[in-house]
Amino acid sequence: MEMFCYQCEQTAKGTGCTIQGVCGKEPEVAALQDLLTYTLIGLGQVAHAARAKGIVDSQVNRFTSEALFSTLTNVDFDSDRFPPLINQAVALRERLKAQLPGQSFSGAAAYTPPADKAGMIAQAGQVFSFKAGGDNPDVTSLKHLTIFGLRGIAAYADHAAILGQEDDQVYAFLHQALAAIQDQSLGVNDWVGIALKAGEVNIRAMELLDAGNTGAYGHPVPTKVPLGHKAGKAILVSGHDLKDLAMLLEQTAGKGVYVYTHGEMLPTHGYPELKKHPHFYGHYGTAWQNQGKEFPEFPGAILMTTNCIQRPKGDTGDKIFTTGLVGWPGVPHIKADASGNKDFSPVINKALALPGFASDADQGEVMVGFGRNAVLSVAGAVIDAVKSGAIKHFFLVGGCDGAKPGRSYYADFVEKAPQDTVILTLACGKFRFFDKQLGDIGGIPRLLDIGQCNDAYSAVQIALALAGAFNCGVNDLPLSMILSWYEQKACAILLSLLHLGIKDIRLGPSLPAFVSPNVLKVLVENFNIMPISTPEADLAACLGK
Ligand code: SF4
Repeated sequence: MEMFCYQCEQTAKGTGCTIQGVCGKEPEVAALQDLLTYTLIGLGQVAHAARAKGIVDSQVNRFTSEALFSTLTNVDFDSDRFPPLINQAVALRERLKAQLPGQSFSGAAAYTPPADKAGMIAQAGQVFSFKAGGDNPDVTSLKHLTIFGLRGIAAYADHAAILGQEDDQVYAFLHQALAAIQDQSLGVNDWVGIALKAGEVNIRAMELLDAGNTGAYGHPVPTKVPLGHKAGKAILVSGHDLKDLAMLLEQTAGKGVYVYTHGEMLPTHGYPELKKHPHFYGHYGTAWQNQGKEFPEFPGAILMTTNCIQRPKGDTGDKIFTTGLVGWPGVPHIKADASGNKDFSPVINKALALPGFASDADQGEVMVGFGRNAVLSVAGAVIDAVKSGAIKHFFLVGGCDGAKPGRSYYADFVEKAPQDTVILTLACGKFRFFDKQLGDIGGIPRLLDIGQCNDAYSAVQIALALAGAFNCGVNDLPLSMILSWYEQKACAILLSLLHLGIKDIRLGPSLPAFVSPNVLKVLVENFNIMPISTPEADLAACLGK
């Protein structure tokens, strides 16, 4: 069975996964995700029409973001979880239609899926495929860029909603943009506008998540995080969801279990309401793509709260658990109750049954917690250092990590950056250099970890505040953005930066397969976006040498 998926950076041959995903996605899952996307387009058509009549269904809103998030790279590989989502999309669509008497719908909004999973898989490619052109290739490219951006927005909106932060304008845009996919009258300029609007809406989604995280757990503060371990039972938490971590910390209190972070969970050590737990100890391992080696060596239970999960290797299979929207066939899944609470007893019991670490180990430490509050609280010192020439330039070196050897560029770049420059970083791309000792400039650390990928919101606030202080635009600051992308949250963030008019972004390790040559030309002409080259050449260009 053939498939076609080209939504992430590691796509096969840089063009598309056709036999099986490089990520491990099976063709059946790809087919079901495509069909889910089609039914979401139909739901978007009807929800958009309903909203125009003042009808807003909160269940439809939450479902839309959850279902879009389920199609993001490395989230859900379990084919059994998709038919219920497809059926629910149709059921919610029909429920809305019933409130719109006299209005007729066609295309995806009128589609009825086959009754069973096999039928859905067989029919998926006939109704929707990312391979199918049909439009002008540049329109197709922009539509796909937008859909992938919507998946990223939905991920942030879902995390924010879990923490009680929602804004109907985010859902309204998800529905409007999904509905637009079927509108054949829209041309390249329309789609450029929709894609940039997705960037604007993504800033709102990240702002909601920032409010959810800081509202529930406080503003991150600079915090030292041990990279070693303590003797005792252990649980490793990966993904991005702070509420899952908070619940697990509460449920493990007094149980003799230390909780460690993995991957994008590292910055959570900076949140006061999380770090207050004495058994929230340190960080284990590096970025998501190394879990095949790191997880089998971890002597405790492992909880995946979101992407990025990979096929469990070695004996990982009997000690790993998923929760939220993440899933892998056969891996036990912890569900929330109607109030959103989760019982992590299976994870804790597994940790208690496993050996844990036999002894303490000191393997150094890293600093986290340089969110906008922490950085802007020392804005005066930073501004003075820039004015005095002590800080010559800022580099935002952030984004996703991945397996490609070309990603060593980012570590080399940071290592070669001159001593009078400061590196801001966020997301898991930092694991290429997060433990390097870069020193400080007059007490200001040269390496500032702003947080998870969604903390791009914080980075934008810092940049805007600096621009305000220097009475200039962000593009006029001594700031260069050196970004790495992997999945669709990075697409959404890139669109946000473009919406803000940020120019001269260097992007790698390769450019997205779904960006057509003409669309790339538009991005280059309007934003001077460019591929990374070599650390030496890019440093020289950024520093005007
Ligand atoms: S998510 Fe990436 S690796 Fe997985 S199938 Fe799609 S393009 Fe391939």
